[in-house]
Amino acid sequence: MGILEVKNVNKRFGGLQALGDVNLSVKENSCHAIIGPNGAGKSTLLNCFVGKLIPDTGSVMFDGQSVLGRTPYEINQMGISRVFQTPEIFGDLTVLENMLIACFAKRDGAFRMHAVENMHNERDIVEKAEHMLEEMGMIDQKDDHSASMSRGNKRRLEIAMCLSQDPRLLLLDEPTAGMARADTNNTIDLLKQIKDERDITIAIIEHDMHVVFSLADRITVLAQGTPLVEDDPENIKGNPKVREAYLGE
Ligand code: ADP
Ligand code: MG
Repeated sequence: MGILEVKNVNKRFGGLQALGDVNLSVKENSCHAIIGPNGAGKSTLLNCFVGKLIPDTGSVMFDGQSVLGRTPYEINQMGISRVFQTPEIFGDLTVLENMLIACFAKRDGAFRMHAVENMHNERDIVEKAEHMLEEMGMIDQKDDHSASMSRGNKRRLEIAMCLSQDPRLLLLDEPTAGMARADTNNTIDLLKQIKDERDITIAIIEHDMHVVFSLADRITVLAQGTPLVEDDPENIKGNPKVREAYLGE
Protein backbone atom coordinates (compact mmCIF):
# COMPACT_ATOMS: atom_id res chain seq x y z
CA MET A 1 0.00 0.00 0.00
CA GLY A 2 1.31 3.41 -0.97
CA ILE A 3 0.98 6.53 1.15
CA LEU A 4 -1.21 7.87 -1.68
CA GLU A 5 -3.60 5.44 -3.36
CA VAL A 6 -5.61 6.62 -6.35
CA LYS A 7 -8.26 4.22 -7.65
CA ASN A 8 -10.34 4.53 -10.81
CA VAL A 9 -10.45 8.32 -10.79
CA ASN A 10 -12.53 9.92 -13.53
CA LYS A 11 -13.03 13.62 -14.13
CA ARG A 12 -14.97 15.28 -16.94
CA PHE A 13 -15.15 18.95 -17.86
CA GLY A 14 -18.36 19.10 -19.89
CA GLY A 15 -17.72 16.89 -22.91
CA LEU A 16 -14.02 16.49 -22.17
CA GLN A 17 -12.78 13.43 -20.30
CA ALA A 18 -9.80 14.99 -18.53
CA LEU A 19 -9.10 11.87 -16.42
CA GLY A 20 -10.19 8.34 -17.33
CA ASP A 21 -9.79 5.52 -14.85
CA VAL A 22 -6.58 6.73 -13.26
CA ASN A 23 -4.91 4.28 -10.87
CA LEU A 24 -1.77 5.35 -9.10
CA SER A 25 0.11 4.26 -6.02
CA VAL A 26 2.79 6.50 -4.56
CA LYS A 27 5.18 4.68 -2.25
CA GLU A 28 6.10 6.29 1.05
CA ASN A 29 9.43 8.15 1.01
CA SER A 30 9.77 7.86 -2.77
CA CYS A 31 9.90 10.57 -5.40
CA HIS A 32 7.21 9.77 -7.95
CA ALA A 33 7.15 11.78 -11.17
CA ILE A 34 4.08 12.22 -13.34
CA ILE A 35 4.96 13.14 -16.89
CA GLY A 36 3.01 13.48 -20.11
CA PRO A 37 2.21 15.92 -22.89
CA ASN A 38 0.37 19.19 -22.37
CA GLY A 39 -3.29 18.64 -21.63
CA ALA A 40 -2.69 15.04 -20.47
CA GLY A 41 -4.50 15.77 -17.19
CA LYS A 42 -1.50 16.06 -14.86
CA SER A 43 -2.60 19.25 -13.08
CA THR A 44 -6.19 18.03 -12.96
CA LEU A 45 -5.00 14.88 -11.19
CA LEU A 46 -2.95 16.88 -8.69
CA ASN A 47 -5.93 19.15 -8.05
CA CYS A 48 -7.91 16.04 -7.06
CA PHE A 49 -5.30 15.28 -4.35
CA VAL A 50 -5.60 18.66 -2.64
CA GLY A 51 -9.33 19.32 -2.64
CA LYS A 52 -9.30 21.84 -5.47
CA LEU A 53 -11.27 19.43 -7.65
CA ILE A 54 -13.45 16.48 -6.74
CA PRO A 55 -13.34 13.48 -9.10
CA ASP A 56 -16.64 12.38 -10.63
CA THR A 57 -15.89 8.82 -9.55
CA GLY A 58 -13.08 6.94 -7.86
CA SER A 59 -11.15 7.30 -4.64
CA VAL A 60 -8.07 9.15 -3.40
CA MET A 61 -6.70 7.82 -0.12
CA PHE A 62 -3.86 9.40 1.81
CA ASP A 63 -2.39 7.19 4.53
CA GLY A 64 -5.60 5.17 4.60
CA GLN A 65 -7.97 8.15 4.80
CA SER A 66 -10.05 9.59 1.97
CA VAL A 67 -9.21 13.15 0.97
CA LEU A 68 -12.37 13.52 -1.09
CA GLY A 69 -14.88 16.05 0.21
CA ARG A 70 -12.31 17.66 2.49
CA THR A 71 -11.28 21.30 2.15
CA PRO A 72 -7.76 22.23 1.02
CA TYR A 73 -6.98 23.32 4.60
CA GLU A 74 -8.14 20.02 6.05
CA ILE A 75 -5.99 18.20 3.51
CA ASN A 76 -3.03 20.41 4.41
CA GLN A 77 -3.56 19.44 8.05
CA MET A 78 -3.63 15.77 7.02
CA GLY A 79 -0.09 16.20 5.70
CA ILE A 80 -0.29 17.06 2.00
CA SER A 81 1.32 20.30 0.86
CA ARG A 82 1.35 21.61 -2.66
CA VAL A 83 3.58 23.91 -4.70
CA PHE A 84 1.82 25.64 -7.57
CA GLN A 85 2.90 26.00 -11.20
CA THR A 86 3.59 29.72 -10.72
CA PRO A 87 5.16 30.88 -7.46
CA GLU A 88 2.52 32.00 -4.96
CA ILE A 89 4.21 34.37 -2.61
CA PHE A 90 3.37 37.91 -1.52
CA GLY A 91 5.75 40.10 -3.51
CA ASP A 92 5.13 43.17 -1.35
CA LEU A 93 6.30 41.38 1.78
CA THR A 94 9.78 40.35 2.84
CA VAL A 95 11.06 36.78 2.71
CA LEU A 96 10.60 36.45 6.48
CA GLU A 97 7.06 37.86 6.37
CA ASN A 98 6.06 35.32 3.74
CA MET A 99 7.43 32.58 5.94
CA LEU A 100 5.59 34.02 8.95
CA ILE A 101 2.30 33.79 7.03
CA ALA A 102 2.97 30.11 6.33
CA CYS A 103 3.85 29.45 9.99
CA PHE A 104 0.70 31.22 11.19
CA ALA A 105 -1.37 29.17 8.75
CA LYS A 106 0.14 25.99 10.17
CA ARG A 107 -0.58 27.05 13.75
CA ASP A 108 -4.11 28.36 13.07
CA GLY A 109 -5.12 25.55 10.71
CA ALA A 110 -6.28 28.15 8.20
CA PHE A 111 -5.02 31.11 6.27
CA ARG A 112 -5.84 34.40 7.97
CA MET A 113 -4.61 37.90 7.33
CA HIS A 114 -2.48 39.24 10.16
CA ALA A 115 -1.30 42.84 10.32
CA VAL A 116 2.34 42.77 9.26
CA GLU A 117 3.50 44.62 12.43
CA ASN A 118 1.72 42.07 14.63
CA MET A 119 3.29 39.12 12.84
CA HIS A 120 6.71 40.13 14.10
CA ASN A 121 5.52 40.18 17.73
CA GLU A 122 4.88 36.47 18.20
CA ARG A 123 8.25 35.22 19.30
CA ASP A 124 7.66 31.48 18.87
CA ILE A 125 6.39 31.91 15.32
CA VAL A 126 9.24 34.24 14.39
CA GLU A 127 11.72 31.70 15.74
CA LYS A 128 10.13 28.89 13.76
CA ALA A 129 10.12 30.99 10.57
CA GLU A 130 13.75 32.01 11.00
CA HIS A 131 14.77 28.43 11.73
CA MET A 132 13.07 27.28 8.53
CA LEU A 133 14.84 29.99 6.50
CA GLU A 134 18.12 28.95 8.03
CA GLU A 135 17.58 25.31 7.07
CA MET A 136 16.78 26.39 3.52
CA GLY A 137 19.84 28.63 3.27
CA MET A 138 17.74 31.79 3.01
CA ILE A 139 18.34 33.47 6.35
CA ASP A 140 20.64 36.13 4.84
CA GLN A 141 17.78 37.20 2.59
CA LYS A 142 15.14 37.38 5.31
CA ASP A 143 14.62 41.15 4.99
CA ASP A 144 14.69 41.18 1.19
CA HIS A 145 11.62 42.23 -0.71
CA SER A 146 10.23 38.96 -2.15
CA ALA A 147 9.30 40.44 -5.52
CA SER A 148 12.93 41.27 -6.23
CA MET A 149 14.16 37.67 -5.93
CA SER A 150 15.09 35.45 -8.87
CA ARG A 151 12.55 32.90 -10.02
CA GLY A 152 14.67 30.16 -8.47
CA ASN A 153 14.73 31.85 -5.08
CA LYS A 154 11.00 32.56 -5.20
CA ARG A 155 10.50 28.87 -5.80
CA ARG A 156 12.88 28.03 -2.95
CA LEU A 157 10.87 30.30 -0.63
CA GLU A 158 7.64 28.73 -1.75
CA ILE A 159 8.96 25.22 -1.15
CA ALA A 160 10.22 26.37 2.26
CA MET A 161 6.73 27.70 3.06
CA CYS A 162 5.29 24.30 2.13
CA LEU A 163 7.83 22.50 4.31
CA SER A 164 6.88 24.68 7.28
CA GLN A 165 3.55 22.81 7.16
CA ASP A 166 5.49 19.62 8.09
CA PRO A 167 3.98 17.69 5.18
CA ARG A 168 4.42 13.96 4.71
CA LEU A 169 3.60 14.35 1.02
CA LEU A 170 4.93 17.27 -1.00
CA LEU A 171 3.28 17.88 -4.37
CA LEU A 172 5.01 19.96 -7.04
CA ASP A 173 3.44 21.05 -10.34
CA GLU A 174 6.21 21.91 -12.80
CA PRO A 175 8.47 23.54 -10.21
CA THR A 176 11.12 24.51 -12.78
CA ALA A 177 8.75 25.90 -15.44
CA GLY A 178 10.15 29.11 -16.92
CA MET A 179 13.43 28.87 -15.04
CA ALA A 180 16.91 29.53 -16.34
CA ARG A 181 19.20 26.46 -16.29
CA ALA A 182 21.13 27.63 -13.21
CA ASP A 183 17.89 28.09 -11.23
CA THR A 184 16.66 24.69 -12.44
CA ASN A 185 19.87 23.05 -11.21
CA ASN A 186 19.53 24.80 -7.84
CA THR A 187 15.96 23.54 -7.58
CA ILE A 188 17.10 19.98 -8.37
CA ASP A 189 19.75 20.23 -5.62
CA LEU A 190 17.20 21.61 -3.17
CA LEU A 191 14.72 18.81 -3.87
CA LYS A 192 17.49 16.19 -3.59
CA GLN A 193 18.46 17.65 -0.22
CA ILE A 194 14.82 17.58 0.95
CA LYS A 195 14.51 13.98 -0.21
CA ASP A 196 17.68 12.90 1.60
CA GLU A 197 17.23 14.82 4.82
CA ARG A 198 13.51 14.58 5.49
CA ASP A 199 11.01 11.86 6.05
CA ILE A 200 8.95 12.92 3.09
CA THR A 201 7.28 11.62 -0.05
CA ILE A 202 7.43 13.75 -3.19
CA ALA A 203 5.07 13.64 -6.15
CA ILE A 204 6.25 15.87 -8.96
CA ILE A 205 4.80 16.88 -12.31
CA GLU A 206 7.62 17.95 -14.55
CA HIS A 207 8.28 18.63 -18.21
CA ASP A 208 12.05 18.86 -18.02
CA MET A 209 13.39 15.30 -18.40
CA HIS A 210 16.70 16.29 -16.82
CA VAL A 211 14.79 17.19 -13.65
CA VAL A 212 12.69 14.01 -13.84
CA PHE A 213 15.63 11.69 -14.28
CA SER A 214 17.65 13.51 -11.58
CA LEU A 215 14.99 12.98 -8.93
CA ALA A 216 12.43 10.30 -9.68
CA ASP A 217 12.45 6.78 -8.22
CA ARG A 218 9.31 5.94 -10.13
CA ILE A 219 7.59 7.48 -13.15
CA THR A 220 4.01 7.43 -14.38
CA VAL A 221 3.37 8.56 -17.94
CA LEU A 222 -0.06 10.07 -18.39
CA ALA A 223 -1.52 10.42 -21.88
CA GLN A 224 -5.01 11.72 -22.62
CA GLY A 225 -6.06 11.39 -19.01
CA THR A 226 -4.97 7.77 -18.57
CA PRO A 227 -1.74 6.22 -17.29
CA LEU A 228 0.12 4.80 -20.27
CA VAL A 229 2.85 3.15 -18.25
CA GLU A 230 4.36 3.20 -14.77
CA ASP A 231 7.93 2.03 -14.24
CA ASP A 232 11.41 2.76 -12.94
CA PRO A 233 13.29 5.62 -14.66
CA GLU A 234 15.66 3.25 -16.51
CA ASN A 235 12.78 1.32 -18.05
CA ILE A 236 10.87 4.50 -18.91
CA LYS A 237 13.91 5.79 -20.82
CA GLY A 238 14.00 2.65 -22.92
CA ASN A 239 10.27 2.08 -23.35
CA PRO A 240 9.37 2.42 -27.06
CA LYS A 241 5.74 3.28 -26.27
CA VAL A 242 6.92 6.17 -24.12
CA ARG A 243 9.48 7.35 -26.63
CA GLU A 244 6.81 7.41 -29.30
CA ALA A 245 3.99 8.94 -27.26
CA TYR A 246 5.94 11.38 -25.22
CA LEU A 247 9.55 11.85 -26.04
CA GLY A 248 8.49 12.29 -29.68
CA GLU A 249 10.64 9.61 -31.28
P1 ADP B 1 -1.76 19.11 -17.97
O1 ADP B 1 -1.52 19.65 -16.61
O2 ADP B 1 -1.34 17.70 -18.16
O3 ADP B 1 -1.18 19.99 -19.05
P2 ADP B 1 -4.53 19.71 -17.37
O4 ADP B 1 -4.86 18.80 -16.25
O5 ADP B 1 -4.29 21.13 -17.06
O6 ADP B 1 -3.35 19.11 -18.25
O7 ADP B 1 -5.72 19.66 -18.42
C1 ADP B 1 -6.27 18.44 -18.92
C2 ADP B 1 -7.40 18.79 -19.88
O8 ADP B 1 -8.49 19.31 -19.15
C3 ADP B 1 -7.03 19.87 -20.90
O9 ADP B 1 -7.67 19.55 -22.12
C4 ADP B 1 -7.59 21.13 -20.30
O10 ADP B 1 -7.90 22.08 -21.30
C5 ADP B 1 -8.83 20.63 -19.59
N1 ADP B 1 -9.16 21.41 -18.39
C6 ADP B 1 -8.39 21.57 -17.30
N2 ADP B 1 -9.01 22.30 -16.35
C7 ADP B 1 -10.23 22.60 -16.86
C8 ADP B 1 -11.36 23.34 -16.37
N3 ADP B 1 -11.35 23.87 -15.15
N4 ADP B 1 -12.44 23.44 -17.17
C9 ADP B 1 -12.44 22.88 -18.40
N5 ADP B 1 -11.43 22.18 -18.93
C10 ADP B 1 -10.34 22.03 -18.17
MG1 MG C 1 -0.44 21.38 -15.89
